[in-house]
Amino acid sequence: MMAIETAMSSNDGSNHHLVHSDDPMHPANHICTLCAKFYTLGWVTGTGGGTSIRHGEHIYIAPSGVQKELMKPTDIFVMDFNNREYLRRPNVHKPSACTPLFLAAFTRGAGCCIHTHSQWAVLVTLLVERDFGKDACFEIEEIEQIKGIPKGRGKQGNLGYYDRLRIPIIENTAQEEDLTDSLEKAMEKYPDTYAVLVRRHGIYVWGDNVHKAKTQCESLDYIFQLAVEMKKLGLLWTNK
Ligand SMILES: [Zn+2]
Repeated sequence: MMAIETAMSSNDGSNHHLVHSDDPMHPANHICTLCAKFYTLGWVTGTGGGTSIRHGEHIYIAPSGVQKELMKPTDIFVMDFNNREYLRRPNVHKPSACTPLFLAAFTRGAGCCIHTHSQWAVLVTLLVERDFGKDACFEIEEIEQIKGIPKGRGKQGNLGYYDRLRIPIIENTAQEEDLTDSLEKAMEKYPDTYAVLVRRHGIYVWGDNVHKAKTQCESLDYIFQLAVEMKKLGLLWTNK
């Protein structure tokens, strides 16, 4: 009986066992919990945004077009990291358009990647464009929360209070998957970054694990909100 059930689940691509666990930290459960929290922050409103976790050679991805706060573990897609084939593909959903962007982060060693449509991130991209031009990145210094961001890939520890935080900005495209090339170019140009802003769209943030991706995303959102408020008050982001 077990053998028949396994064969059936493989044939229809559902591979239910990959998303069925009582462990709240299992990626399929964890993505749902995180997205419900992110919804309350305005990060994944109206089915936008998403989250993906790498678990060994398995990539767990929230689907496209679903209400992220109502997602269930059975809604989650699972991809094999090595051959990029779906091990689980729920028939009722479309794969996330963010998938190639998440994979770009995992290829660089990330364990989790979060994509938000945060209004603070969007506003910062508009302020940088207006005041510093399209080629400029977001730069800020002497803000305590900068300490929540790592120094860079392969470097020990986080940025210090007097370090300057730089987050590259790429231009938006009509289709989300078409952002992949410019995201990868930004990752190469700014090898220390753990985040890339997308103009008029939001941000991609990744980290070595779920804990780091989440806290970095929170720190950046705090800094972006602060930066928008500072701009309103005529305060400068940097001393130069
Ligand atoms: Zn998006």
